[in-house]
Amino acid sequence: MPEGDAVYRTAARLRGALDGRVLVRSDFRVPRHATADLSGRAVITTRSRGKHLLTRVEGDLTVHTHLRMEGSWLVMPAGRRTRPGDQVRLILANEEWQAVGVRLGMVDLVRTADEAQLVGHLGPDLLGPDWDLEEAVRRLRAAPGRTIGEALLDQRNLAGIGTIYRAETLFLRGIWPWKTVGEIEDLEGVVSLAQRLLEANKGHAGTVTTGDRRPANATWVYGRAGRPCRRCGTRISRGGMGTQPQERLILWCAGCQPG
Ligand SMILES: [Zn+2]
Repeated sequence: MPEGDAVYRTAARLRGALDGRVLVRSDFRVPRHATADLSGRAVITTRSRGKHLLTRVEGDLTVHTHLRMEGSWLVMPAGRRTRPGDQVRLILANEEWQAVGVRLGMVDLVRTADEAQLVGHLGPDLLGPDWDLEEAVRRLRAAPGRTIGEALLDQRNLAGIGTIYRAETLFLRGIWPWKTVGEIEDLEGVVSLAQRLLEANKGHAGTVTTGDRRPANATWVYGRAGRPCRRCGTRISRGGMGTQPQERLILWCAGCQPG
């Protein structure tokens, strides 16, 4: 699943292709908005908010999309055919470019004034201009009995962390993922590290938390189940956190993150 940094880059690509240009075509392939037509309207801009994307269009309209597990936005020259088999959910095209939303998890069209109905529940965005460490920590502390692993993934606490940054942040702080929020002394340190990791990765594809960009060396625990820990040699553990259907992957080192 794309995490906050990938969504941030997607917003930048959409801005480059769509901002300030008039749409000559829109194609909503979702039942709710199948008849919507944005052609003739200029795109104002696209903003990311956690893992959500908000594309604002002239006339007080916002296209809200979420990539969920497998979605992506492709940007290509206008008129180029999409690949056969691509599950296209939405196309926004101007004279020069088209943005093609493939397998998007959510597509909504709302009044810009009503964006809060879609993203107002989110906690501070780790990559947002209004990032607020204290507010994120306050929200986390409000449920001290929750495991830190689940709390970090809850976008109502802070927006942008997925399973990769969760695993990497907790490894780097030496915290067992099932520790409760109330048991963690330096919660500010955990949150600010997660924010720095996303910030450091927002400008390039892939997630690097070790400082080594080579794909085999880029992470400490994520993608390394069963392999020796880079610090202590213990085999990296892998499991599920949370209850179905919300259960999500967690990786950790039992040596560096003792329970
Ligand atoms: Zn270790």
